[in-house]
Amino acid sequence: MPTFVYMTRCDGCGHCVDICPSDIMHIDTTYRRAYNIEPNMCWECYSCVKACPQNAIDARGYADFAPLGHSVRVLREEDKGTVSWKIKFRDGREKDFVSPIRTTPWGSIKSPQDYTMPSRDDAKSQDLAHEPEALNIGGKLPALTPDRLKVGVV
Ligand code: SF4
Ligand code: SF4
Repeated sequence: MPTFVYMTRCDGCGHCVDICPSDIMHIDTTYRRAYNIEPNMCWECYSCVKACPQNAIDARGYADFAPLGHSVRVLREEDKGTVSWKIKFRDGREKDFVSPIRTTPWGSIKSPQDYTMPSRDDAKSQDLAHEPEALNIGGKLPALTPDRLKVGVV
């Protein structure tokens, strides 16, 4: 479900623009309000929804599986440290979900350029770049070894 912006709530702060990994949240140069320039390219990560201090961004379902009448509202309450999602179904049912806001300070996560450049030999490893350090788990990734697999499944 891609996102859209309520223009009357947006104040043009640009947080959604900064955080969008798909670079599709832009500020309209005339109205100074954010908008999703290409909903088809939305990762549906909802980083923008959670970052918006004005609760100005909502998710909108595609018409084929989310018929008219539904709504997905998000409420970010920094004082409580929560993000709440209210899902309203077309038949009137509602479901509420509450999640904690991530408390990692802005700018405290290492950038890719802060890590050592991968070597050619790293391409033979099953770890992705910067793993396991970037996952903050220490040591090696927990992985199945052949002796822990069922007989015949190797
Ligand atoms: Fe960008 Fe994610 Fe928001 Fe989509 S949900 S507009 S990809 S930040
Ligand atoms: Fe507007 Fe919210 Fe984006 Fe700020 S984060 S520009 S208020 S939609």
